[in-house]
Amino acid sequence: MVHKPTPVPNRLSFTTGLVARHCLSRSVNLIVQRSIALLYPPTCVLCGAPGEDDRDLCAGCRDDLPSLGACCPRCAQPFAPSRDTKMTLTASSLVDAAPQPLCSNCQRQTPPFERCLAAYRYEDPLPGLVAGIKFKSKLNLIRLLGELLADVVQTDAERRDKPLPQALVPVPLHLRRLRARGYNQALEIARILSRRTGVPLLPQCCRRTRATQAQSELDERHRHLNIRGAFEAIAPMPRHIALIDDVMTTGATVSELTRVMTAAGCQRVEIWALARTP
Ligand SMILES: [Zn+2]
Ligand SMILES: [Zn+2]
Repeated sequence: MVHKPTPVPNRLSFTTGLVARHCLSRSVNLIVQRSIALLYPPTCVLCGAPGEDDRDLCAGCRDDLPSLGACCPRCAQPFAPSRDTKMTLTASSLVDAAPQPLCSNCQRQTPPFERCLAAYRYEDPLPGLVAGIKFKSKLNLIRLLGELLADVVQTDAERRDKPLPQALVPVPLHLRRLRARGYNQALEIARILSRRTGVPLLPQCCRRTRATQAQSELDERHRHLNIRGAFEAIAPMPRHIALIDDVMTTGATVSELTRVMTAAGCQRVEIWALARTP
């Protein structure tokens, strides 16, 4: 019996096949997305009006979200006491404004990270939205907030004209909390940022070595003690990264993680957060 050699596909037809399959899957994705949009049209999560640009947020509610205003260039702590001051600057527009001084905290002790870029001030309705992504598995909110942060990152990158980080690292959850919640909201936000910016995601480079008490239950001094030694790097790090988190409060968590990343070879660490507490 004569065995015919298995035909080896020539490179061109192989590539053409891949491209055809890729185009087909994109077309199928597009059809699925449009069908979903027809069945479930985007609806504002805050007021129920039709959403704008395929997002679950209307233009009016988007304009009412609390912008950060003038803030510390290092830790993004807002300077003005509240949104009632009717500030019109957004976090990303600050790069064009006059240089701001460091806040008193950063003057007293400079944080180990290079800067924090936060999309919003952690004021209503942000606490409710963030609770929705953390505790209620509202995936449409993760998508919405991730896209809003991506808008700020994109505008900031265009205005600063400086290189983007080489990798995005979501703040890891402890395995026990990850199992209880089923997902890490920082990782889900980082996925959206990675897709929008083209910066690769590096989710497996570090982990939490121990479960910690929720930082929100502690004052500033105890937050630092609580988080000390809670992270471990498990892969070599690129020189320039952005840590992705939902809310930055005292910065204790991201400062500790920055120290671990720096010890693992990182030289520049930025923080990209959805919201910053005033
Ligand atoms: Zn609305
Ligand atoms: Zn500061």
